[in-house]
Amino acid sequence: MERIYFDYASTTPTDPEVFKAMGPYFYDRFGNPSSPHAFGREAQKALEDARAVVAQFIGAQSEEIVFNSGATEGNNHAVFGIARLLRGKGNHIIVSPIEHHSVLEPVEHLGKEGWRVSRLSVSAQGLIDPQQVEDSITEQTVLIAVMLANNEIGTIQPVAEVGRIARARNIPFLVDAVQAVGHIPVNVRELGADLLSLSAHKFYGPKGVGAFYIRRGVKIFPFLLGGDQERGRRASTPNVAGAVGLAKAIELCRQKMDEEMALQSRLRDQLFEEIPQRVEGVVINGHRHSRLPNNAHFSFEKVEGESLLMSLDMEGIAASMGSACTSGAMEPSRVLRAIGLSDELAFGALRLTLGRWTTQEHIDYLLEQLPKIIKGLRI
Ligand code: PMP
Repeated sequence: MERIYFDYASTTPTDPEVFKAMGPYFYDRFGNPSSPHAFGREAQKALEDARAVVAQFIGAQSEEIVFNSGATEGNNHAVFGIARLLRGKGNHIIVSPIEHHSVLEPVEHLGKEGWRVSRLSVSAQGLIDPQQVEDSITEQTVLIAVMLANNEIGTIQPVAEVGRIARARNIPFLVDAVQAVGHIPVNVRELGADLLSLSAHKFYGPKGVGAFYIRRGVKIFPFLLGGDQERGRRASTPNVAGAVGLAKAIELCRQKMDEEMALQSRLRDQLFEEIPQRVEGVVINGHRHSRLPNNAHFSFEKVEGESLLMSLDMEGIAASMGSACTSGAMEPSRVLRAIGLSDELAFGALRLTLGRWTTQEHIDYLLEQLPKIIKGLRI
C-alpha cells in the first residue's frame, strides 16, 4: 500500500537536493569554522555563505542571523535571554495564548518566578487583536510574543501591526515564524520583528537545525556560554552541514514558493469544499482567508480524533490532530479551546497539511476514504 503524507506541518522530508548539498560537509569539507587553517577557512566560508542566504531570504543582515538547533531553542533563547537581561527594567510579558509550547513553557516558568504574564484573547478564527496588545502594555513590559502562523489551525496573525506597536514603545517583539518560512513570504522588517525563530525541517531542510534572527541593536543574553562562536550569542561548534542544508532548502523554496502556494491552496480549497459535502457534522477551523496555503483543519462531531487518525493510518494516510501533545494525553488542544470549541469538537480534530509532494491523486484518495471512515467511527 502506498503511504500518503498529510502531515507536512509536523515535519517535511529533506529535499534530495538539500541532502546532496550537505554531503561534502560531512567528509572532505569537515573543518571546524573556528580553525585558522584551510579546512577551517573552507567551513567558515560555507557557514557565512549560508548565513547570507538566510538573511537575504527574510530581509535581514547576515550579522543578525544566529544558527542554532531549531525554533525550540530560538524561542527559549528569546524568552530567557530577554528576561535575564531586562529583569531590572520590568517583569511583564505579553503573549498570545496559542503560541507553541516552546514559547509558552518558558513564559510560564517565568510566571512561577513572579513575572506577570498577559495572555491575549483570540477570535473564533484564531486571530489576536493588536489593539489588545497596545492596551496590555505597561511600563514593566519587556517582551511581546505573537507567532506568525499557527501550527494547528494555520491562522496568520496581524503581526506587522503588533510590530509597529512594539517598536513605537521600544519593547522587544518575538515572532515564531516556524510554520510560515518557506511557505509564505516572510520579511523581518515588514513584520517589525526584533527576534524571529525558524526551523529547517519545516521546509524540506534537515531536522535539528534552525536560525534565530536578532535585530541589530537588540540586547539579549547568549543561549549557550563557552565559546565565542556566532558572535558570542551561541557557543558550540556550528553545525556547518546543517547550515548548508538550511540555506539550500531556502534556495529551493525561493524558486518554488509561488507555484507551491498556488497549487497547495487550490488542493486545500478542494478539501474545504468537498469534505463538508461528503461528511455531515463537520466544521472548518481557523481563518478562511488569513491562513497558510497548506493547512486544512477540521472538527468532526461525534468522532474521536485519535481513532480517526488510527483508521486513516490503516488506509495508508498520515495526518494529525494538530498538536502532538494532545496525543496520549486526554487534554483537548489549547488552541482549539482558545478559539472556543466544545470538548467534543476539540477531540474530533483533524489537521491535514500539504507539501511539495502532495498530488491531486492523494487528495482524491483521501476524499474517497475519509467519509467511509467517519461513518464507521461515528458514535
Ligand atoms: N514553533 C512552532 C509554531 C512549531 O510548529 C514548532 C514545531 N512543531 C516549533 C516552534 C518547534 O520547532 P522545533 O521542533 O524544530 O524546535
